[in-house]
Amino acid sequence: MTGPPASHHTENQSPPIWHTLTDTQVGQTLQTSAAGLRTAEASRRLDEYGPNRLAPPKRRGPLMRLLLQFHNILLYIILGSSIVSAILGHWVDAAVLLVAVVINAVIGFIQEGKAEAAIDAIRAMLAPLAFVIRDGQRHEIAAADLVPGDVVALASGDRVPADLRLTSVKELRVEEAALTGESLPVEKNVAPVAEDAPLGDRFDMAYSGTLVVYGQATGIVVATGSATELGRINEMLSSIEGLSTPLVRQIDRFGRGLAVAILLLSAVVFVAGILWRGHSAADMFMMAVALAASAIPEGLPAIMTVTLALGVQRMARRHAIVRRLPAVETLGSVTVICSDKTGTLTRNEMTVQRMVCAGHVFDVGGVGYAPVGDFSIDGHVVDPMHCAPLAMALRTGVLCNDANMRNDDGMWHVEGDPTEGALLVAGAKAGLEHQNPESSWHRLDSIPFESEHRFMATYHHDADHAPWILVKGAPERILDMCARQWNLDGERPLDVDYWRRMATDTAAQGLRLLALACKRAAPAGDKLAFSDVETGYTMLALVGIIDPPREEAIRAVNECHHAGIRVKMITGDHVETARAIGAQLAIGVGKPALTGSEVALMDDAALRRVAMEVDVFARASPEHKLRLVRALQDGGQVVSMTGDGVNDAPALKRADVGVAMGLKGTEAAKEASDVVLADDNFASIAHAVREGRAVYDNLKKFILFMLPTNGGEALIVIAAILFDLPLPVTPAQVLWINMVTSSTLGLALAFEPAEDGIMAKPPRPVGETLLSGFFVWRVTMVSILMMAGALSLFLWELSDGTSLETARTMAVNAVVAAEMFYLLNSRHTLKTVLNREGLFGNPYVLLAIAACVPLQLAYTHLPLMQAVFDSTDLSALEWCKVIGAGLLVFCVAELEKILIRRKPAGKRLAAD
Ligand code: ATP
Repeated sequence: MTGPPASHHTENQSPPIWHTLTDTQVGQTLQTSAAGLRTAEASRRLDEYGPNRLAPPKRRGPLMRLLLQFHNILLYIILGSSIVSAILGHWVDAAVLLVAVVINAVIGFIQEGKAEAAIDAIRAMLAPLAFVIRDGQRHEIAAADLVPGDVVALASGDRVPADLRLTSVKELRVEEAALTGESLPVEKNVAPVAEDAPLGDRFDMAYSGTLVVYGQATGIVVATGSATELGRINEMLSSIEGLSTPLVRQIDRFGRGLAVAILLLSAVVFVAGILWRGHSAADMFMMAVALAASAIPEGLPAIMTVTLALGVQRMARRHAIVRRLPAVETLGSVTVICSDKTGTLTRNEMTVQRMVCAGHVFDVGGVGYAPVGDFSIDGHVVDPMHCAPLAMALRTGVLCNDANMRNDDGMWHVEGDPTEGALLVAGAKAGLEHQNPESSWHRLDSIPFESEHRFMATYHHDADHAPWILVKGAPERILDMCARQWNLDGERPLDVDYWRRMATDTAAQGLRLLALACKRAAPAGDKLAFSDVETGYTMLALVGIIDPPREEAIRAVNECHHAGIRVKMITGDHVETARAIGAQLAIGVGKPALTGSEVALMDDAALRRVAMEVDVFARASPEHKLRLVRALQDGGQVVSMTGDGVNDAPALKRADVGVAMGLKGTEAAKEASDVVLADDNFASIAHAVREGRAVYDNLKKFILFMLPTNGGEALIVIAAILFDLPLPVTPAQVLWINMVTSSTLGLALAFEPAEDGIMAKPPRPVGETLLSGFFVWRVTMVSILMMAGALSLFLWELSDGTSLETARTMAVNAVVAAEMFYLLNSRHTLKTVLNREGLFGNPYVLLAIAACVPLQLAYTHLPLMQAVFDSTDLSALEWCKVIGAGLLVFCVAELEKILIRRKPAGKRLAAD
């Protein structure tokens, strides 16, 4: 075991072996108590031991990252060409080729660096938190600030934040696979174990990086950061993933295929030129180089990265934090979103509105968390404390409760579970206060609420030291535990039918249901066990709690429906409540709802048949979520599933896009997810889908913009070779064009905002390849246009007797001008850009075009550039011709859009 604080033992003393010590000894050694450290001491220790963080995995150094930019088959070809050009004595070409490769690599390096930094910053938003007890109070702090001696509380779903010696446990089960490789959870306790016990048998310890799958515990931090067992094996839990997605890989493959094709073509041209046209090998080599340089889209990888990173940043701004980059793309093709209800579709601001007790229905007045409001029956105000069963019910609600109410400057807040907060507020409206000694019976033990068992129980002694066990939970669950009910005239046998009727009636109004019950009894042992709490209660009351839907969720559900995405609600709540809330959100209206127990009775085939039809799933457990995801996927759907608990992790992992709640979600759920919602809000999922679609669109637009440049240039070179013309553009000039167009112009498309109708289209089919028939057509058409514009200008000028230099300068400018105009075309793939939004909607596009103009002016008129690129000055008339060639591309491209939209197949495309 790693050493304790150095100040607590001398240098030559061996460090304490924590698992062999009792918790008291550990507390003494680390000078801490159940009230935790004092804040000042904690910050002193933080200075001494450093933050509780593992050294991040070794990143590649900047030099290595720069060198890796050259590791690309397309750049190898250019580098090779540069070397041979140098050998042949074409120094300028060799240098330009080399400079082009270097500039490209530097741009790639800078852009990738920025993209990684942006994504790291977003990941840092997911830094884990820990519950610590300091100065006798519970605080939530960054896990990085934990120090030895801190007292930490663990709950199911937590990643253990540091090495802990456990001091109290409540059915704590920890999965230690991260450390021991054993995936079965280990049950923990507090008794010391033998010194030679292996890690997996040290039942009194919870080690950093392991996962609490069940129960609660507290423990004292004995080691932090790299001093933990995990730090010693020096393994980061979640490796940092690279900037790669299926689409990026598809493009990579495409790039490699293209490289091979270009090499072959260049080789054919080289051989044919020598044998057929009788050129010298040296001349033909330069031709082949020109061809290779023209056809290779060097800027492609860097822009892809930037587009993805920008998408991730935009999503983060809308509260969706992407953990796995491929999710950015998958989000765009989601066809079904399965969402939790409470807090995601609803506001999670709960207020008790109704209590059914002693044969009466009490309405509870007041809004929000302020403890002001009357109890009334049929509009007549009553004093709740005069009705003994109601008073006991309210007391049960307040005592069987882990939440807290706080008043900050006149504003009331609830800390903890909002359902429990609502009960505290209801109690306070009747004059019962949580911390009030008269009302707070001494709590001796509790079984906290877990979604699986749907109840919470506490064990108390009242003022007369009589034992009481109080429960609250889902009505079906509580009714099963009760034998009697408390009426105005005392205890009577339970009338289950009455309560069920009242439950259905209350739930049908969209109210969330809780039942309260109590029994005068003590547990068999000194702690509450499940066997103590299962039977023998007296039913007190049924509570109806309102939790209204979020306005923005109603809008987002509507938007999803328009976007061809089905929204399903999966909730632990009562089926009638679920249905009523669903109706307010337009989910599952007029369709049957299913409960978890009905799902449990179905086999996979039956579930597959109904999964698509049913939109509301109530009283559902995590394993139902998993089965539902599977059933939907088997039916060919792309599924997004939300979750927060540790048991939701398998469903989140299985879903195409697992979405975890950032606020109420456990670490386990977050780690299993692809996306974390910073605000737990359904609307953020819809935004993320929108951004996901936009990112994919932008990548497509960029590639559609980029490839015709290369295609056009390559066609120019090929035509020159075929017809034995002088090269209209030299290799150096080709590289100049590529650099200007892809690095400056193309980048602007990464900033393209989502198109207006983006959420009015059905989801993109999974596995859709970029290189569709339409795609190939568009690239070919624009390539030919570019070629036609530049080549005819070149030939026209030559036949007019202009010098080769001038004709070439014009050809180069014509290609760039065509690209500038085509950038505008590219803003919308099929919609026209001939309107205000189309021409001026993206300032980056205008900026990029504006940046290109001085570059081309410099290329044409600057003596230095003229020396390097053999360019010459152009007259005003010549400039006009250049712009005319550019306009030609623009007009034909717009015309093509109109024709495509007219054709039936095109209409389909446009609708897509
Ligand atoms: P969702 O899955 O949409 O978030 P939910 O939050 O309603 O739904 P659970 O938290 O699993 O789902 O709650 C299920 C049921 O358990 C509730 O309808 C309620 O009756 C009961 N319940 C909820 N919170 C508590 C609590 N703190 N103590 C006791 N019972 C509770």
